[in-house]
Amino acid sequence: MTDFQGQKAIVTGATRGIGRAIALALLERGATVIGLFGSDNEAAGRFREECAELPGNVYLHQCDVSKYKDVEALYEKIEKQFDTIDILVNNAGIRRDGVMAMMPEEDWRQVIDVNLTGGYNMSKFAVHLMMKQKYGRIIFITSPMAHMGFAGQANYAASKAGQIGMMKSLAKETAKRKITVNCVSPGFIDTELLSDLPEAQVKEYKNMVPAKRFGKAEEVAEAVLFLAGPGASYISGSVLEVTGGL
Ligand code: NDP
Repeated sequence: MTDFQGQKAIVTGATRGIGRAIALALLERGATVIGLFGSDNEAAGRFREECAELPGNVYLHQCDVSKYKDVEALYEKIEKQFDTIDILVNNAGIRRDGVMAMMPEEDWRQVIDVNLTGGYNMSKFAVHLMMKQKYGRIIFITSPMAHMGFAGQANYAASKAGQIGMMKSLAKETAKRKITVNCVSPGFIDTELLSDLPEAQVKEYKNMVPAKRFGKAEEVAEAVLFLAGPGASYISGSVLEVTGGL
């Protein structure tokens, strides 16, 4: 098991779902986690309690990743407190499904703002801090929808495909400074993001997956920790799928 003692990691969307599993796994292995959440204060309170007994330290911040100025101000605080960071996991994400012909402009914009622009905002300032120490690991949580497409998810698929293009470009910009940039691409994972799906649709989707089940957030966290660890030092610009064979 990789030891993350002494490492500082930012995880966006850290208090629920996949982000929560990633943050807990890092804390269990001794990392200091700076966890960001959007608007769910109750989930943040529950998460803080869960972390109390774990070896790593957690610092939670409410910060909308889509707001450039808010992200910039948060990084100023982080730099003052921690100087540099080692790991950034761009996990925060939303869905606003609807067929494109009927999709309100607001739903298009919100999904792009959070999923794609949020990744730019968070990564830009992370790179500044990582450049100082000539080391870093940046991981985006994308989706197979990026290349498969899905009826009713034009906004979501576009945001996730955009993340892959951004990741590949940033990987080329930072490789010389020992900063790796990769994506993890989970298939259907059992979190609140999918909790609005009708039972019949869940059954249909599970049937589409060769493993015949949805994945667990903890299974995605394992892939993220691999890319964040020392064993992945020569992996950059890649997409690691965690899909049960989808
Ligand atoms: P959840 O809905 O369970 O959790 C989303 C997290 O993102 C929450 O912590 C939420 O914070 C945070 N968040 C949302 N908007 C913002 C914002 N503007 N600023 C900061 N934080 C925000 O989703 P999942 O855990 O399922 O998904 C996590 C990531 O994995 C997403 O990027 C998603 O697209 C991706 N993914 C998920 C799959 C799945 O099947 N579940 C499959 C493939 C990819 P708060 O609770 O405060 O609102």
